[in-house]
Formats: sequence, structure tokens, C-alpha cells
Amino acid sequence: MSSTDDRFNGPGPDQIYYNYLREDNFSLPQCQDCHEFHFYPRVVCPHCGSFNLEWKTLSGKGEVYSTTTIRRKPERGGHYNVCHVTLEEGPRLMSRVEGVDSLDVKIGDKVTAVINKDSDDPFVTFTPVQGD
Ligand SMILES: [Zn+2]
Repeated sequence: MSSTDDRFNGPGPDQIYYNYLREDNFSLPQCQDCHEFHFYPRVVCPHCGSFNLEWKTLSGKGEVYSTTTIRRKPERGGHYNVCHVTLEEGPRLMSRVEGVDSLDVKIGDKVTAVINKDSDDPFVTFTPVQGD
């Protein structure tokens, strides 16, 4: 494969992912051959090996797949949530649920993505869907 191949020029998939997040757009690559989404973003579909990927904006809807509480002393910020969320589109990512006590986060909870841009590399956290 030539090093001048267009697929390997320009920003890599991780950089594209962050650039979208900076524009408040939560997107992931979708394979145009097997139609699966994947996370973390890659150049090649991890499901079928295709290079035929297209970035698609996600619904932001997901469901808590697993959850745990990291315990810290209150003077060090108190405990916080770490979870895996399965997105409506299929991929699962590690994140945290905010806006609710970590101990109240349960497997199966419906959550919505929030783009957090407090750090250099933006990241996605989740909040509970109200009334669920
Ligand atoms: Zn594929």
C-alpha cells in the first residue's frame, strides 16, 4: 500500500473524532459495507475489514451496560461514576454518568450523551434520560 494513499493523508480517525466533538457533533464511522458503527474510530472497519467508512452523527441515546463507583474522600472530590454505555447505534464506550449520584446509576438506565469540552481533547459523558 502506497504511503501517498488518500486514506492515510490528513487527520487520522481519532483527530476527526475530536474535531467533530469540538463542533458539538458526536459522530462515529459507519461501515458502508456491513453498516456497523465502531468505537474507537479506526481507518478500517473492525467488523469486516472494509475501508469504506463514512462519518455519521449519532443520536446520542444509549443504555448503561455496566456501572461502578470510584470512591474518593469528599475532600478529594467525592465518589464518581465510571460506566460502559451501549449506544443506540451499537458501539460501547467507557464514560461516566453525571447529574445523578453515582450509586443511583443502574444497568439498563437510558442515558443521553453530553459533549464535555473542559479539557484539550473533548470527551463524551452521559446524563440520565428524565422520566425513565
Ligand atoms: Zn464493515
